[in-house]
Amino acid sequence: MTVRVVAPRQAELPVPFARPEILPEAVRAASGILRSGRMATGPVTAAFEQQVATLVGAAHGVGTSSGSAAIELAVRALDLAPGSRVLVPTMSFCGAAHAVLHAGLTPVLVDVDPATGMPDVEATERAASEGAEAMLVVHLGGMPAPVHALAAAAGLPLDRVVEDAAHALGTWLGDDPVGSISWATCFSFYATKNLPIGEGGMVTTDDRDLAARLRRTRLHAMSSDPWDYRPGGSWLYTVEEAGLKANMSDVQAAIGREQLRAFARWQRRREEIAARYAAELADLPGIELPHAPATGRHAWHLYAVRVGPESGLDRDVLAGVLSEHAIGTSVHFVPLHHMPYFRRTCVLPPGGLPGADALFPRLLSLPIYPALEDRAVDRVCGIVRDAVVQARRDARPLSSSDAAASGDTAAGRAARVPHARQEQRGTAP
Ligand SMILES: *Cc1c(COP(=O)(O)O)cnc(C)c1O
Repeated sequence: MTVRVVAPRQAELPVPFARPEILPEAVRAASGILRSGRMATGPVTAAFEQQVATLVGAAHGVGTSSGSAAIELAVRALDLAPGSRVLVPTMSFCGAAHAVLHAGLTPVLVDVDPATGMPDVEATERAASEGAEAMLVVHLGGMPAPVHALAAAAGLPLDRVVEDAAHALGTWLGDDPVGSISWATCFSFYATKNLPIGEGGMVTTDDRDLAARLRRTRLHAMSSDPWDYRPGGSWLYTVEEAGLKANMSDVQAAIGREQLRAFARWQRRREEIAARYAAELADLPGIELPHAPATGRHAWHLYAVRVGPESGLDRDVLAGVLSEHAIGTSVHFVPLHHMPYFRRTCVLPPGGLPGADALFPRLLSLPIYPALEDRAVDRVCGIVRDAVVQARRDARPLSSSDAAASGDTAAGRAARVPHARQEQRGTAP
């Protein structure tokens, strides 16, 4: 196997897994809001909401403190009986399952197609056989998920579907932008997402009543905003339903508004990087690449390859080699049913989740972000290529007994590779 571990060479520039970019204009806009004295939810949030809603073809946007809060608010607004079952893909971020649990509902974990990392119709039907009142659909990595087919497979109308679009601002499903397809779509503006603010989220919807309700429930469910201290503002409010503290601030919105100006350019750069990876890694045996959708648009929030046995490499070995060359990688995601808390609190479908179990050990996300330069992509690809070529050469059947006698086998060498990034994997959304 390939694993001749070398110390990072001086000339090798580190390639972090993610590098959030905040434009100078966004920094200026944020400090302007801070100096203005009005920094909570206000007119800047309203303007940002309208911009994002327009971008995704929805009538309304409701800004939130995070993507997870957006999911919790949307799921709570379904008004399901406590303990009702909600389908949640097991190959997703834990924040989505927490949101369902915090809303007093029970996630039913859905297995995934090992080719896409997302539930297919068959897995959705199997999970829904356990009973489902609603479902989360995740567009993993920015790949459009077939929302209509999955809802039909679950036997649910689109107004029982909440989309986890944390990776999917800029994703299109056929002719429709993600954000205007189901009842409620939840975005994240977390630091590493494709429209980074640092923290923030949004629900987009065409349902006016839902939007009005989310505007209340994101701010303690107060009937009016009592912190409107302008002349004529009132201190009087009442509360008629459960509320969260999950509003977006005008500081976040001001950053988002400036960042949005670069969004189309950033997305084009992500597409270029994905195409470059695809071209350079295409012929490597055992390195299976993510597919671009036949129609619609992939947002390329992630570039997750699958490391198969044909490569002669194990995913952790390849991650270790890249790490030795100062290249960051990650894994999206550790399946939820591998985590003790979700095993205790979620329903697992009959027959388990074999697709996710098979996929997880192969998954490896390579760096992809607008600031990533071509030469960095080329360096990542060169190291992956060298590793595969060498691993396959070393893995050829050994006819002499020398290697075996010395203990110098591929498996032995793999086991000795330091897993420098092990503890970080799967922790970052
Ligand atoms: C990031 C992420 C979330 C949560 O977003 P936050 O803004 O970090 O709360 C939800 N789902 C997925 C798939 C994510 O990657």
